[in-house]
Amino acid sequence: MNIIQIFERFPNQDACIAHLEKARWGDEPHCPYCGSLNTARGTDKARPHRHHCYECKTSFSVTVGTIFHRTHLPLQKWFLAVTLMLNAKKGLSALQLSRDLEVNKNTAWRITMKIREAMTQADQRPMLTGIVEMDETYIGGKPRKGTKGDGEDGTHKRGRGTKKAPVVGAIERGGRVTAKATQKDKLKGKNLRAFVRERIDTDASELMTDEYTAYKGMEKVLPHSVIKHSTWYVDGDIHTNTIGGFWAFLKRGMFGQFHSVSRRHSQRYVDEFCYRYNLRNADPLAAFDFTINRGLKVAK
Ligand SMILES: [Zn+2]
Repeated sequence: MNIIQIFERFPNQDACIAHLEKARWGDEPHCPYCGSLNTARGTDKARPHRHHCYECKTSFSVTVGTIFHRTHLPLQKWFLAVTLMLNAKKGLSALQLSRDLEVNKNTAWRITMKIREAMTQADQRPMLTGIVEMDETYIGGKPRKGTKGDGEDGTHKRGRGTKKAPVVGAIERGGRVTAKATQKDKLKGKNLRAFVRERIDTDASELMTDEYTAYKGMEKVLPHSVIKHSTWYVDGDIHTNTIGGFWAFLKRGMFGQFHSVSRRHSQRYVDEFCYRYNLRNADPLAAFDFTINRGLKVAK
């Protein structure tokens, strides 16, 4: 899906509503409040997209309870935003979106955060299988030249010594990724094992990590191979280059586009990058429909 296709497929608000109604209800609108099918399209010409429920006597539209609820923005702009976000290889900032859609910065930011809600890993959590690489990284923006770092002598520390926010991730070779923004004091062995149990099918997987001490004891949970970066970077099949590639994708996007991602929201951005990575080989049209359906909460 590109923006030309959006304009062709959804030329106006009516076409967007019709698409959402079809995606959410098929041919049978049902009341989002009580679930009743005993509904009818309203007759008020000024509000042609309202439906009335005879069961609970409320009126509703297709956007109730979805990411599009109570929006004042034309749905076409939402659909354009979804497409632009899915297509932006390095991530799309709210500032860029505000220019693209001619909306103000706050509106653009709200839309991107709502769309990220549709991209959340919370209810999709694929259990990874096969050879799974696991690693952590740190996000939080590039240190500016001339600013004091968080190292003891004011230098910028890298890797595990830094104050930046850690992200833990696991990835199937050639497959899906899952990642979680966390805190530095939650990078202990028990936290990492809980992450593995939650997101990896431990009966059908083999884990590859580096020799970070918190991974010790992982062999109690599932088969575990450790690479020694100090000796070999790639030791045959035992490597973590795949997750390294995902971290590069995540960081390029987050450093380049989102100059200040607050910790409170970092999971949302991590979710977006996992989501887009997992859809990297999907047909663009299917990826668009899937994202809209997740926004309507009809797809997992
Ligand atoms: Zn009802």
